[in-house]
Formats: sequence, C-alpha cells, structure tokens
Amino acid sequence: MAKKPHVIVIGAGIGGLTAALALLDRGFDVDVYERSPELKEVGAGLHVSPNGSRVLRELGLAERYLRDGVQPDARYLCLWDSGQTWEIPNHNSQAEARFGSPYLCLHRGDLHAMLVDGVRQRKPGAIHVARTCTGFTDDGSGVTVSFEDGGTVRGDILIGADGIHSVIQKQLFGPAEPKFTGYIAWRGLVPMDQVPERFRTSAANWISTTGSITLYPVRRGELLNFIGNIEREDWRVESWIVPGTIEECARDFTGWHEDIQRLIQGLGTPFKWGVFVRDPLQQWAKGRVALLGDACHSTRPTLGQGANMAIEDGLILARALEAYEDAESALSHYEEARRPRCTQIVKKSMEQASRRHAKDLADPVTAARYIESQWSPDKVVEWYDWIYGYDATTVAV
Ligand SMILES: Cc1cc2nc3c(=O)[nH]c(=O)nc-3n(C[C@H](O)[C@H](O)[C@H](O)COP(=O)(O)OP(=O)(O)OC[C@H]3O[C@@H](n4cnc5c(N)ncnc54)[C@H](O)[C@@H]3O)c2cc1C
Repeated sequence: MAKKPHVIVIGAGIGGLTAALALLDRGFDVDVYERSPELKEVGAGLHVSPNGSRVLRELGLAERYLRDGVQPDARYLCLWDSGQTWEIPNHNSQAEARFGSPYLCLHRGDLHAMLVDGVRQRKPGAIHVARTCTGFTDDGSGVTVSFEDGGTVRGDILIGADGIHSVIQKQLFGPAEPKFTGYIAWRGLVPMDQVPERFRTSAANWISTTGSITLYPVRRGELLNFIGNIEREDWRVESWIVPGTIEECARDFTGWHEDIQRLIQGLGTPFKWGVFVRDPLQQWAKGRVALLGDACHSTRPTLGQGANMAIEDGLILARALEAYEDAESALSHYEEARRPRCTQIVKKSMEQASRRHAKDLADPVTAARYIESQWSPDKVVEWYDWIYGYDATTVAV
C-alpha cells in the first residue's frame, strides 16, 4: 500500500482506544474524537479475561495491567441469605497457566488510562476531546465527519466506537431498539479496609431468587468492586453514571447475608443503571464506515465480556486494515471475523443471566441441589473456555 489510510475513530472508550493503538502500531494515521471534555473515566471495575489480556499484552500494556490489576486467587459462588459457599473453577491466578494469559480484575479508569497513555505515546495529539459527532457523509472516496460545534474532519475510513447510544450506528442502519430486562444494576466501590477478610483477594458471585451480586478486588487490591443486579421495574434509565443512595440500595437487598449489608454500607456513592438489551446487529460495516464495541454488540455483563469484545474488535480491525488494501473489503473481512463470535457471546450472556436468579435458591436444600447441578465445574469450564481460549492476535481475518 503506497500510503496507509487516515482512520477517524469516534469515541475514546475502551474499544476506540484499543483500535487506535493497534492501528498506530501498524503505521496508520489515526485521530480519535471524544465528546467528553476530559479523558477521565467513571464506572467501577471490569474483568479483563485471558482473551482480552492477550490483546493488551500484544499492545505493550502487560507491565501496566500487572501493576494495576488483581489476579483473584479463587472464585466462589455464595447463597444470598446463608452465605453458604462453593468454589468454582477457571477465574483465578491459574488462568495464565491454562490460557497463556492472565485473568485480571481492573478498575475501568486504570484500563482507560493505560490505553490513553499508549495512544499518546505513539501520537501525542491523536485524541481530540469535547468533540461530539453528529453524523457523516461517505462519498465513496472518503468520509466527512460533522461535529456539534459546526466543525468537520475528513478521513479515508470512519470507525464508530461511540458506545451503546452510537450516532454512527443510527445513521448507518437506523435505531436499534433497547429492551428493558426488568433488572437494575447497582455498582460501586468499597475501600478494602471495610471489607470482610474473606472477600479481599477472591472473586464471588452471590445468587438468589430475584437478584445476584458480583464482588471482586480492583486497583492493586485497594478497592472491592460491587455489582448488584435486582429485579425492579421502576427504574428505566440506561446510564452508568446516575447516582443512587445507600438506603435505596440496601432496601433492594433486604434479607441478604449480613456481609452483604456491611458491604453496601461501605459503598460511598452507589450508581444505578437500568439494564437494557438490544438484538445483535446483522451488519456492522457499510462502505468506508464500520462499528465496533457496544455500538454493534452491547451485552449483558454476566459473562464479563463487554470490554473484552471491544478490545478484541480493536485489534482485529487493525489486522484487517493491514491485510486488505481496499477499505471496503478490509471492513467486511473485519465484520466476518467478528460478528459470529460476538453474536454468540451476547446470546450466551443472556442465558447466563437466567442462571443467577432461580426459584430453587429460596430454600437451602433445593438451592444446594440447583448449584451442584447447574454450576458444576464441567459446566463452568464449558461456559468459559471457548471465550478465554480465543486468540485475536492470530485468528484468521
Ligand atoms: C461510563 C461507563 C461505565 C461503565 N462501567 C462498566 C463497568 O463498571 N463494568 C462493565 O463491565 N462495563 C462497564 N461499562 C461498559 C463497558 O465498559 C463496555 O462494554 C465497553 O467499554 C465497550 O467499549 P466501547 O468502546 O464500545 O464503548 P465505551 O467504552 O462506552 O466508549 C464509547 C465512547 O464514545 C464516546 N461517545 C459517545 N457518543 C459520542 C459522540 N457522538 N461523539 C464523540 N464521542 C462519543 C463516549 O463518551 C465514550 O467515551 C461502562 C460503560 C460506560 C460508558
């Protein structure tokens, strides 16, 4: 290729920044436009599983993720009221040995910061903040992007990495209707000195008839991440950044084990999020424009794959643009390589959600039977191995 295309990325989130990093490493010129005035991430923790950490290592971020992340020493399943506990395999410090790459619990802000620093080291002025994209024109030889401030920029290829409410997605294929799941999620962080000893180094899923709680340490073990899902019809706001109160959160988990009550009291500001789903898109790319991350496959977080899929997308997109000279052909190879896997993960995440809330969990005897049959070690391995074993650095594009 005589001159590599100039790629415009809309959205400096996890997926957009990963794509920018992978493209800059391959000699593409990249500019990223972000609507937020500051590159400061809210949100709490997320899992970077071996399929994601493999990509971050390829991008030179291993030292940073090992410094900031936590590799939990075990993962437990706990019964909501009694606290009875079972150990479940697969998500611990042995992931490196099993999958050749670690399983990490990270603060979203720490992951975001390492991606921002990586992009800026390669091209200091690549990220443009306070630029809200409003639309684009693809004239066949390039793409012109418009912004709320009246400005425009032109590039060879446009990537819509602008998250669940993507304007690029709406313009390409029309609005994707969100469907409310009937659940809300409470999220927050507890300082580790307020956390009972047994939760400090491991991950845990607490399950019940009407909700579930996921706990894991982040930020070098200084904080415990709390995510509580609960059946509730009256809160339908799809945003990660709306604060609630400790009293309201505690009310939603009335009757849960005293350890959970104690953690909720330590939450500082809990944030509440209406959990919505969209059907996976049938098409991700058209002409010189393609989508990645939540813009084309937002998911329920039950398999912990929202950020991991966006990370995989970013690398595969860069590999496709390197492999195929023609922009349209490169974007359609990217879509072909990614769409079946992401569609399957979104579907499996829905199935997984239903395993965490079951009638049988109301009673200790039926609960034990349910957990031993539905969460047996071989089932857990089957749910996760195909996800964690995927290698975005080598799969065919
Ligand atoms: C604030 C927030 C908190 C989250 N917290 C968690 C969590 O705790 N745990 C978890 O598992 N997942 C969380 N998620 C979801 C998870 O991070 C995503 O699944 C994953 O990051 C997907 O990456 P993405 O790059 O596709 O989207 P995002 O990371 O959402 O990035 C999209 C970016 O595009 C920008 N943008 C949107 N519209 C425009 C526009 N018109 N013009 C310019 N820029 C635009 C946004 O500001 C954002 O920076 C969170 C998402 C957000 C936005």
